[in-house]
Amino acid sequence: MSAIADALAEVRARIDRAAHAAAREPETVRLVAVSKTKPASAVREAYEAGQRDFGENYAQELAEKAKELADLPDLRWHFIGHLQSNKAKFVAPVAALVHTIDSASLARELGKRAAKEGRGKLAVLVEVNVGGEAQKHGAAPADLATLLDAVDAEPNLALSGLMTMPPHDLDEARRAFEGLVALRDQHGGAARLPELSMGMSDDLEVAVACGATMVRVGSAIFGAR
Ligand SMILES: *Cc1c(COP(=O)(O)O)cnc(C)c1O
Repeated sequence: MSAIADALAEVRARIDRAAHAAAREPETVRLVAVSKTKPASAVREAYEAGQRDFGENYAQELAEKAKELADLPDLRWHFIGHLQSNKAKFVAPVAALVHTIDSASLARELGKRAAKEGRGKLAVLVEVNVGGEAQKHGAAPADLATLLDAVDAEPNLALSGLMTMPPHDLDEARRAFEGLVALRDQHGGAARLPELSMGMSDDLEVAVACGATMVRVGSAIFGAR
């Protein structure tokens, strides 16, 4: 096996163990392989090992890789970085899921771009800055109700859930994940917000224990950046 295939198998095994420990079905946790800054050849290698969901942080890098890898038809691109409205045009044509809606104006612009693409509704998550950390993107919990309504009002977006970027410290990360779950419960529950995107290379077990339906894992698969 290649190094990437090996690493993927190890991450998948970590997810499976964490799911079993939490009495969850492993299939309920989707692995998004975060390929930012890595070459398209690394994505192809992971794809050949069976991986289908890939995450990118930079709009133009996503557009370039999607073009290079357009021959892999069932590959799903996730946009997980901070998105400026003027970059929505790079993301709307290729993304299967945008994890990082953090303002009504971004939702409006992305909705407009999605309408032009004619690919059907574009699925999105709302990013929440659960702990209110100054340096982080994401909506403040107090603004969440208004933002969720704004996304719901966009005819070309499909509101699918919530996302958060955890603090490095594992105990603080757990509090952030539990906070995201509590916010989901306050704002319509799993019926309205089925997806919870939380957990990365260092804290995916904690995220799965807390109920993550997607984990975004980069360095544990592709190596240090
Ligand atoms: C880079 C990144 C990840 C992956 O982080 P790793 O620690 O490499 O697993 C996950 N989510 C977001 C939003 C990122 O920017």
